[in-house]
Amino acid sequence: MKYIRADLFMNKIAGSAFFSAAEKGKIRAAIEKEPGEDVTPVVHAHWVACEDEYGEEYKCSACGGIQFFDMTPQDEGWEYCPYCGAKMDKEEAK
Ligand SMILES: [Zn+2]
Repeated sequence: MKYIRADLFMNKIAGSAFFSAAEKGKIRAAIEKEPGEDVTPVVHAHWVACEDEYGEEYKCSACGGIQFFDMTPQDEGWEYCPYCGAKMDKEEAK
């Protein structure tokens, strides 16, 4: 399954020199007739290492949820935040 952004796709078609105005209208109408899919946008975040009186902990950069790990979250395979469900694949800001 592949999901695409219909609005971006329509912009691309509208800017294309390959289709005539009439064809562009037909394509637009066909896309608008298609029912939308209930797709939740993915939030990208990363674990932020921080230290407090309890020791080493990691904070979700999206929601601030704190999680303790025996190792690093990467080593333990935490790909998603257990609090907000953010996907932890964002590059850490340097
Ligand atoms: Zn989170």
